[in-house]
Amino acid sequence: MVKKVIQFHQPLSNEDGILLFEGFNTVELAKKFDTPLYLISEKRVRDNYNRLHNALLQNYDKIRVYYAAKANSNLSVLRSLEAEGAYLDAVSPGEIFLALKAGFSPERILFTGTSVRNDELNFIANSNVVVNIDSFSELDRLLLHIVPKTLSVRINPKIGSGHHDHCITAGPQTKFGLWEKETLKTYAKAKRAGVEKFGIQMHVGSGILNLEPIILAFDNLLSMAKKIHDKLGITFEFIDMGGGLGVPYKPEENELDLCTFSKRILSLFKRRIAEYNLGTPFFCLEPGRYLVSDASILLTSVNTVKVTPFKKFIGVDAGLNTLLRPSMYGSYHHVLVANKVTSQEKEIYDVVGPICESGDFLARDRLLPEIEEGDLLALLNAGAYGFAMSSQYNSRPRAAEVLIKNKKCLLVRKRETFDSLVFNQQMVE
Ligand SMILES: *Cc1c(COP(=O)(O)O)cnc(C)c1O
Repeated sequence: MVKKVIQFHQPLSNEDGILLFEGFNTVELAKKFDTPLYLISEKRVRDNYNRLHNALLQNYDKIRVYYAAKANSNLSVLRSLEAEGAYLDAVSPGEIFLALKAGFSPERILFTGTSVRNDELNFIANSNVVVNIDSFSELDRLLLHIVPKTLSVRINPKIGSGHHDHCITAGPQTKFGLWEKETLKTYAKAKRAGVEKFGIQMHVGSGILNLEPIILAFDNLLSMAKKIHDKLGITFEFIDMGGGLGVPYKPEENELDLCTFSKRILSLFKRRIAEYNLGTPFFCLEPGRYLVSDASILLTSVNTVKVTPFKKFIGVDAGLNTLLRPSMYGSYHHVLVANKVTSQEKEIYDVVGPICESGDFLARDRLLPEIEEGDLLALLNAGAYGFAMSSQYNSRPRAAEVLIKNKKCLLVRKRETFDSLVFNQQMVE
């Protein structure tokens, strides 16, 4: 038999044709914890954070990395990043609640909301986190509850980018951020109200591997910072380029070169803050996907192999209820057969789930080894927007999550049960 040569990256490896995750046999983990199962490598999350943080520190001293919690809000993941020194980007009061529970102090949390309710603003004001304003009205309404010491504004830097239309969050078509006139009005109002320290932020989109749009948008943000500084005499405590750093999902895609990224973005930053007299603000960024995506895989068992006159389908026990990205964005997740990871590919298959929707697929037209019922598949790069976007659709309890930490397998989220399906329901006659 021809042996396949595959490059395995941390935390994956191969032992006699079995996929290992952080050194653990995935077939045994699937037996022990059942499937569908998310496995998370704590070490990989920390490594991703440190690699990025260190690359940035090479070029500037005052760096803050805010983890965008919406990518994966498991408390144990948040806890690890807190311990590593990360800051946190929250987009809802629920994320603030989780971040505080995980041990983040309020000053290390930045709230970036959109369409925020009054009672939410009250909660946010009471929790003392830093607020990043997304509309003039939001500031007006926040000031009814509190005059924050520090305030940031999310501006629209006119240029957006992203792996899918739904993930472009700047430019003319989006609801996000403030344009120039509103921006100036908002900072002026905040200053008049007594705010002492300021930040400025943008977030152009998600899943970006080509740096050009981010660099151009960031330059636009810096010239907006200059205008605000010149017109209103505001100096910035921090300047935040947002998130969006992409990761390679397909084997042929390349990783972002962190050294180049750090050099390019920070040389622009340093040049402009000197030229515009902006002092020495913190440089902030808000990676979500970059920190957690490749730290996790989804294990799913093969229930059925079904051959139609047109296609071969592998029916597994995870579906769009477990991992929505393929169906929602047409996203690619690489598939390995965990119990025969080095076997030669033979057939083209679609990998589909147990949900009654034709959009319920995890992978399409994949060349895989011959699949038998009972095989175990691994979907790679499942750590960002994986569990976080899962649901109980078709009344299927959500999957379990296991964290590998210090060579131990820890169940960090129990598998839901039928009881979870009736939780909060009230049956009336
Ligand atoms: C989603 C989001 C991020 C992170 O996006 P990634 O593509 O996961 O890096 C950062 N900042 C804000 C405000 C966000 O909404």
